[in-house]
Amino acid sequence: MQVEYVGDLAPYDDEVAALAEVGADLTVIRAADGDALVDAARDADVIWLEWTPHLTRDVLARLPRLGLAIRWGVGYDQFDVAAATELGIAVANAPSYCTEDVAEHALALLLALSRQVVHRDRQGQQGLWRHGPAPHRRLAGSTVGVIGLGRIGGRVARIASAFGANVLGYDPVAPTIDAPVRLVNLEELLRESDFVSVHVPLTETSRYLFDTGTLALMKPHAALVNTSRGGIVRQEALVEALDAGRLGAAALDVFEQEPLPADNPLRGRDNVILTPHEGANSPQAVRDLRREVCGATVEWLRT
Ligand code: NAD
Repeated sequence: MQVEYVGDLAPYDDEVAALAEVGADLTVIRAADGDALVDAARDADVIWLEWTPHLTRDVLARLPRLGLAIRWGVGYDQFDVAAATELGIAVANAPSYCTEDVAEHALALLLALSRQVVHRDRQGQQGLWRHGPAPHRRLAGSTVGVIGLGRIGGRVARIASAFGANVLGYDPVAPTIDAPVRLVNLEELLRESDFVSVHVPLTETSRYLFDTGTLALMKPHAALVNTSRGGIVRQEALVEALDAGRLGAAALDVFEQEPLPADNPLRGRDNVILTPHEGANSPQAVRDLRREVCGATVEWLRT
């Protein structure tokens, strides 16, 4: 049996040992595009895919031995799941390995916006010891809107309420959540919130959830935090809203184009914080991700 990891796994002794117990070899490969992946993974029974190249219908159809494809992370953005299902290829991912990390990252961004940490750090580093305009807003007593109340959003809601924020939530699936969250519709959430944190998967319905119309519903001082996927926010609309003073601030961990190009208009602003898709990253998360993916593979190979 052959398992191909497409990404930057290193060192991988633990995974090699776990797979050897079920008679499988692990190879780490890099592939610039679908053709290169098909060449390198022709004999793969299992593929672990980090980011690229995408497992499109065409790529999947040219991998005749493939029985299981695992996304090295959350979501299936890189997989044609319908095609995999039709071709009899099982798919899996690691949906919960970084729930706490992304929730903490969202809160870190929210607090950094509320206390203007990045801007104040620049002043402190330069020895500028003067009081500037008041911090964005105290979190305690503010209204935090959480869009998507699944694993990460639910945790954000709980932590935000522990900080003393009034938490509003919007999720069409009407979740049960053990935090003091008032469920409202999207429009009410956007109109009433001082901070909005978004935690939804990228789908055809959530793409550009934040566009000119939805951003216009937000308070002019409100701040938007996006740690979900870049495609949830239409960047041009966000830039326009910030430029026009119709939105107070934004903090983003995810972008439609990653890495963020040098000339991206969101760069260099005092009221925008940009982190390079690091929300999921911690030694604990990486450990859990490796265990989850390898464990699922061993289980599948045993059956
Ligand atoms: P989840 O599946 O547990 O929760 C998602 C929730 O969003 C669900 O309750 C669903 O009903 C709701 N939802 C779906 N579409 C919606 C919409 N249009 N409006 C409102 N709610 C909607 O997922 P999760 O584990 O909480 O992760 C959320 C997202 O975080 C992931 O899909 C992924 O895109 C992102 N993520 C980012 C990082 C990072 O590194 N920044 C890491 C992991 C996950």
